[in-house]
Amino acid sequence: MEDDVGFKAAVDEAKKGAEEGGVPIGACLVSEQGKILGQGHNMRIQKGSATLHAEISALESAGRLPASAYHGATMYTTLSPCDMCTGACVMYKVKRVVIGENKTFVGGEDYLKSRGIQVVVLDNIECKGLMATFIKEKPQDWNEDIGEP
Ligand SMILES: [Zn+2]
Repeated sequence: MEDDVGFKAAVDEAKKGAEEGGVPIGACLVSEQGKILGQGHNMRIQKGSATLHAEISALESAGRLPASAYHGATMYTTLSPCDMCTGACVMYKVKRVVIGENKTFVGGEDYLKSRGIQVVVLDNIECKGLMATFIKEKPQDWNEDIGEP
């Protein structure tokens, strides 16, 4: 699954975020047929946004879609999704969420599973490395991203 186009796109997005000085988290929404519908990275710092986490950026980049487009879809994300992004995945009833890593942070994985959404955790070294570097350099920005003082 680390070779999936969606996962590769999510990691590329996370790297873009790191280059921009932002929170290095990327995401990509892929259709049931395997087509990339949208991709993006966390833009809180870059855009001064309260809501542009990676998964929300990916959903935004996919634009307005009929409900049926999400039902067989997979959300790839480099980090375990927070409550907000978990909620978006539940609301749109994506079929599966593939997570790069959940050592840095564990979000709403149990909630996803309780709503019948398949959860796969890859424990990817590159994803962990991006977060470790960012948190070491900017611990306050990381806490802000997950709503901690
Ligand atoms: Zn989030």
